[in-house]
Amino acid sequence: MSVNKDIYLRAKAEIDRRRDEVQMSAFERREECKRRFPEIAESYKIMADTACECVKAMALGGKENAQAFIDEISKKNLQAQQVIADTLKKAGLPEDYLKEKYFCDLCNDSGFVDGKMCNCLKNTMKQLTYNSLCDKVPLEKYLFDKLSLEYYPDEVNEDGIIPRKRMKNFFEYCVNYADDFNLKSDNLLMTGETGLGKTHLSLAIAGQAAKKGYSVVYGSAQNLLSSLENEKFGRSTAGAEQAMHECDLLIIDDLGAEFSTQFTVSAVYNIINTRLMMSKPTIISTNMSLYEIEEKYSQRIASRILGNYILMEFVGKDVRVQRKKQ
Ligand SMILES: [Zn+2]
Repeated sequence: MSVNKDIYLRAKAEIDRRRDEVQMSAFERREECKRRFPEIAESYKIMADTACECVKAMALGGKENAQAFIDEISKKNLQAQQVIADTLKKAGLPEDYLKEKYFCDLCNDSGFVDGKMCNCLKNTMKQLTYNSLCDKVPLEKYLFDKLSLEYYPDEVNEDGIIPRKRMKNFFEYCVNYADDFNLKSDNLLMTGETGLGKTHLSLAIAGQAAKKGYSVVYGSAQNLLSSLENEKFGRSTAGAEQAMHECDLLIIDDLGAEFSTQFTVSAVYNIINTRLMMSKPTIISTNMSLYEIEEKYSQRIASRILGNYILMEFVGKDVRVQRKKQ
């Protein structure tokens, strides 16, 4: 795994902040109990004294009665702990009331176990990588119920299609898709002119999948591809490629709008192909037809899509333009 230093530092800072918070609140609970229960305050004092004496005893090392001395100290210490436990019990407080309640029991929120990165730190890094890739979109603006079908013509068009009827089908399909979203969900290719709801539906799916706890990477083809390019040339966002390959749902918006180079063409193939091999769902929206995809990228990309994606051809008139006219 290539580790991005910036992501690592931010993840570590997050874990440290969590641990500090946990320790602070445990400290506050102890101080509160010391004030409320003099026997607890006294016990803490005894425990602190015994710790000091223990250090002294170590210094006396070789002395004959050192062991007896240490035994005596630990007896005092255990007694003090018992007094605390009894007092908490009498007061009806849980026995671990004064202990730190760490988020991660494996590493006690240190981020490391036996010198190796703990899963909690790895997951935080993953999450930060996903977030850094996701274009900043206010997902709450793109809920299913905010999409109105009234802007789609209700008459048969020149191709014999009723746009509103088709859109209603797509809408219901996407609602179900989002409800049932899982790692076996279909790949979708949404084609059609700008302003027909492709981005809206894919973001509504993204929001719901993320709410269910799936990792989602969403971005315009332009932004995702430049993250890959920056990573490749060591400029930033290491982990971008891995995140795009491994996230539970990848949404590439507006494929084809990016500036096309040899790099972008092979990167697009690489993403599509890797996700198919890993059986991870991908949603692509584009203004291009399959024919144009073949022209712009390659025949192999077009055929990978044709064979493995559900094609959704959006029709109608630009909804945003109609809204503005009103
Ligand atoms: Zn951990």
